[in-house]
Amino acid sequence: MRPELQSYRHLASGKVREIYEIDADTLLLVATDRISAYDHILSPAIPDKGRILTAMSFFWFDELGVPNHLAGGPTDERIPGEVVGRSMVVRRLPMVQVECVARGYLTGSGLLDYQATGAVCGVELPAGLTEAGKLPEPIFTPATKAEQGEHDENISFERVVEQEGAELAEALRSATLDIYGRGAAVAAERGIILADTKFEFGRGPDGELVLADEVLTPDSSRYWEAATYEAGKVQPSFDKQIVRNWLTSAESGWDKASDEAPPALPGDVVERTRQRYIEAYEWITQKSFADWPTAEV
Ligand code: ATP
Ligand code: MG
Repeated sequence: MRPELQSYRHLASGKVREIYEIDADTLLLVATDRISAYDHILSPAIPDKGRILTAMSFFWFDELGVPNHLAGGPTDERIPGEVVGRSMVVRRLPMVQVECVARGYLTGSGLLDYQATGAVCGVELPAGLTEAGKLPEPIFTPATKAEQGEHDENISFERVVEQEGAELAEALRSATLDIYGRGAAVAAERGIILADTKFEFGRGPDGELVLADEVLTPDSSRYWEAATYEAGKVQPSFDKQIVRNWLTSAESGWDKASDEAPPALPGDVVERTRQRYIEAYEWITQKSFADWPTAEV
């Protein structure tokens, strides 16, 4: 008999996930179907997005072969029936208070920093790099863990040293670049560029780094199609481009610069976005999403 979701204490709501306590040492992370764009949570949600991102995290935890926080499989008996397929049972760990970002390409906040200073998070880069340009080698660009509603702020490696000590800072950098490299290599075999990604680490009982949170999902990573990649311009987002195109089109009637909440997404935009997430899952994992566990109700 699976437990009821209500039988677990609800600890927190993230932008995308709901966190419950299974016991003192164990958490239930439930991925919702919420989607955000341009800093707004959109409505309606994208059906199955939470399952797809959970399926991807499980795939990558298995594929990467580094210590991780999973404490059970996708159908673990501690998962309530209503959230099977979108949930992970994980070891509850003290989390390192640094967002561990690796970048192989220059875009987003990395590009802005570079244009202002010639460096990203204090890492000096050669002159002449452009939007979406490939970096000479992947770099570690840590960020603060922002409070809800705030933006993560890029910080230098020295700041990480001040905050966490030199030994842990070095370990975070090397683990981040190592895991990014593994993920990027697997993606490259499939014709996909892993432009950048964010990891979160917890500390195990002996202080060792444990890969936690979600991993290499489209919410935490930028995936680009290698076949259409072109340096010098903003690359389409693998997962969110359909939504972004609609929001910024005349049809939506929405002004991105306004403070107003965006209008509800039309049904076909929702369905095409859902298909896009499934396509991303199947392309990256080479598995059929139809085989992924679903809610038991
Ligand atoms: P966002 O990812 O959108 O910036 P968020 O990180 O606040 O938002 P979610 O990703 O929705 O929220 O929720 C996941 C939360 O659970 C994060 O705060 C993350 O640090 C935490 N977490 C992940 N894995 C573990 C773990 N093994 N032990 C303890 N906390 C964890
Ligand atoms: Mg998160």
